[in-house]
Amino acid sequence: MSANINLPRILRVGAGASAELAATLDELMVSSPLLVTDPFMKECGYVARLLQQLDEGNVSYGVFAECVPDPTTDSVAAALEVFRSGAHDSVIALGGGSSIDTAKAVAVMAEREGPMRQYKVPHTITSGAPIIAIPTTAGTGSEATRVAVISDTETQEKMLWMGLGLMPVAALVDFELTLSMPYRLTADTGIDSLCHALEAYVSRKANPFTDSVALSAMRTIALNIRTACEEPDNRTAREAMMLAATQGGIAFANASVTLIHGMSRPIGAFYHVPHGLSNAMLLPEITAWSVEGARGRYAQAARVMEMAADTDADSLALEKLVAGLRQLNADLSVPSPGAWGIKEQDWFDALPVMAEQALASGSPANNPRIPDVNQIVELYERVWRV
Ligand code: NAD
Repeated sequence: MSANINLPRILRVGAGASAELAATLDELMVSSPLLVTDPFMKECGYVARLLQQLDEGNVSYGVFAECVPDPTTDSVAAALEVFRSGAHDSVIALGGGSSIDTAKAVAVMAEREGPMRQYKVPHTITSGAPIIAIPTTAGTGSEATRVAVISDTETQEKMLWMGLGLMPVAALVDFELTLSMPYRLTADTGIDSLCHALEAYVSRKANPFTDSVALSAMRTIALNIRTACEEPDNRTAREAMMLAATQGGIAFANASVTLIHGMSRPIGAFYHVPHGLSNAMLLPEITAWSVEGARGRYAQAARVMEMAADTDADSLALEKLVAGLRQLNADLSVPSPGAWGIKEQDWFDALPVMAEQALASGSPANNPRIPDVNQIVELYERVWRV
């Protein structure tokens, strides 16, 4: 059976890649982009640097700098209005996954009408305006995925959108833009990438192409995430993390995420826990429950991440994997849901709906061990008790 792999048409990777924006627009023959970003990117000077390039290249452009974390249908609508009023032909996304997903939603809604919720999975989004993605977190991998995550303002559901219309035509992956990330953001976004790689590797849709990038990404992250957090100016660790984040995106977009991401989205939607952090809260316990479904693969993941020795038998490697992930959370000060501030009553009241939403996203069906709705409720309970 063959695997279907989708990638951006242009990937520029490494220090200074974002300085190639004007040249990239030229190559793509787009002439009137809307830059979609968030207020911090403006404050820290990243926007000004890009605009200088566009000015020097005589590109006419617009700017929308009001993206919010975890974009909503309302925040996308505001950006869409700016896109439509400016006769733009493309979008440049600068920022973390939230800015990139906002830009993606604008690009596809530019040629569509009606309520945005009709475009969530299982709908497939096949077309949209060209997207040029410049990630500033190492992170979501959204620069290389045909996925966007948009919250429905009315229902609070974190909707998954999928299809080739959401794949950036170009991604400028410049680790220098991540040097400004503080400790918590580095840790959370790094664990998001680790989940992408691990979930893609154990997914029922894994294939030899995604295996190679997933294994490379999980090893790189496991060996560099602590340094990137503790030494924010360490260029070697930052470069490694950025490359691994894009690889993680490529892996999961072509093999799918599994139970961790399925259960993580409702936590984000209900309690506004940052995406990477809710993944981190789930990672050790969901892995512990899932290992029986793919013992060999999880054991191999443990060895590749140097949490287990090459000579360890699978059963020992699995024990060490779960212990290693718990240790990683401890080292990176990942709080439990309660310590983060969620009230026990709120958590338990919401569990049935959260479990239904997790299951409906389709991601748990790709897990090596597939849970029913009651088992997902039990897993949320277990995660609370950690
Ligand atoms: P984010 O985009 O929400 O940004 C979080 C905060 O970090 C913002 O305040 C932002 O200004 C700040 N920030 C970003 N880059 C920075 C930098 N270099 N220095 C300092 N501060 C910086 O964070 P994220 O984790 O990258 O994105 C999360 C979103 O991405 C969620 O909505 C999640 O669901 C989505 N997501 C999408 C995909 C996909 O493939 N489309 C995959 C995973 C997650």
